[in-house]
Amino acid sequence: MTARVRSTAVGHLDADCFYVSAERVRDGFLRDKPVGVLGNQGACVIAKSYEMKAAGVKTGEPIWEALVKCPEGIYVKRDFRWYEVLSRRMLDVARELSPRVEYYSIDEFFFQAVTGSGQTLQELALAIRDRIWDRIGVPVTVGIARTRTLAKLISDAAKPFGALAVIDREAEEKLLAGRPVTEITGIAGRRAARLAPWGITTCLDLARADRRQVRSLLTATGEALWWELNGDAVQAIHTRRPAHKVLSRGGSFGESTARPVVLYAWLVRNLERLIEELRFHGVTTGKLTVAIQYKTGHAGAGQRALPVPSDRFDLLLEAARPCLRKAWLPGVQASHMHLIAEDLSARGQYALDLFDPPQRRARAEAVALLKEQVNDRHGRFALRSAATLHLPAIYRDVANAYDICDIRGKICF
Ligand SMILES: [Mg+2]
Repeated sequence: MTARVRSTAVGHLDADCFYVSAERVRDGFLRDKPVGVLGNQGACVIAKSYEMKAAGVKTGEPIWEALVKCPEGIYVKRDFRWYEVLSRRMLDVARELSPRVEYYSIDEFFFQAVTGSGQTLQELALAIRDRIWDRIGVPVTVGIARTRTLAKLISDAAKPFGALAVIDREAEEKLLAGRPVTEITGIAGRRAARLAPWGITTCLDLARADRRQVRSLLTATGEALWWELNGDAVQAIHTRRPAHKVLSRGGSFGESTARPVVLYAWLVRNLERLIEELRFHGVTTGKLTVAIQYKTGHAGAGQRALPVPSDRFDLLLEAARPCLRKAWLPGVQASHMHLIAEDLSARGQYALDLFDPPQRRARAEAVALLKEQVNDRHGRFALRSAATLHLPAIYRDVANAYDICDIRGKICF
């Protein structure tokens, strides 16, 4: 007879200031110093060490403001490829110590907490934290509890370099009493504002509130959190990613522009990234939206339904062009563009478009295949549409050649 280990405890593992810690792994000089990691165009601090935080620097702050607050800081440019390497190593260690691990984000995992013989959950939390530190050199905090929601609250409370298992109700309530509801993932400003008039401001208030009232205020999502806060695990650990409803690509231009040729170049660039994403997930899109934000605060959008869902460059560009025209405000400086694909369906699910001549289809498919093969071999975007030649800056930055720049949703494999 085989003994089955059963455990309903859930662990949450979260790296401490991950990007900074990752830089410190390969450069020990950065340890114990104020370090800031800079984003996209080198203009913003996207991660900071505790030392830099103590100087008052905030995430998202422009570099010139950070320099005033922390002139002795060391500022390094992000390297997502390296962070991805370490993230995967962390995942390997987590999988050694747990049969079920959910890769929630690049530096955050949930896992099923299963103790070895004679081991307590507290010892397990310590073991995972210490093994990742010894093997990889990244400091992480581990929280173990009866549910995901509780585990995350515990690891947040135990940061940095903490390891804490909280299972009994008394200890749980002590933890919940001291934390505002906004610390729960899924309860941001709007939901919190609905709770406040009822005197629900801390996590413990929410746990002790009437379940039906929570449901009426926050729908089924809120009710699920209520169960979780009271120790009933209703949110599962997902070891496989869920299917997407929407895929999108885009972002800031770095430097704003009113030039149609540059906007068109961004449209093509974002479409190439979006198609990469559609192909990665094996889906086609039936509806395309182009959204543009302007420096003046204005926004423009255009949307098109496709006659037949597609992931083909020529057909999607044909649909995206009129969307761009609709979203375009002539003469106004634009700062961001997003391309959004909706009505996704599995590739091959639909019959071919009868109005798409076979010759054209064969040619488009041959070009797509060639593009994919060249880029697989010689680097991402090595072969790309000539329309994007108006964007020399992004192709000069080698960091853009890495897949990880386009982090895939919350769960990325
Ligand atoms: Mg983290």
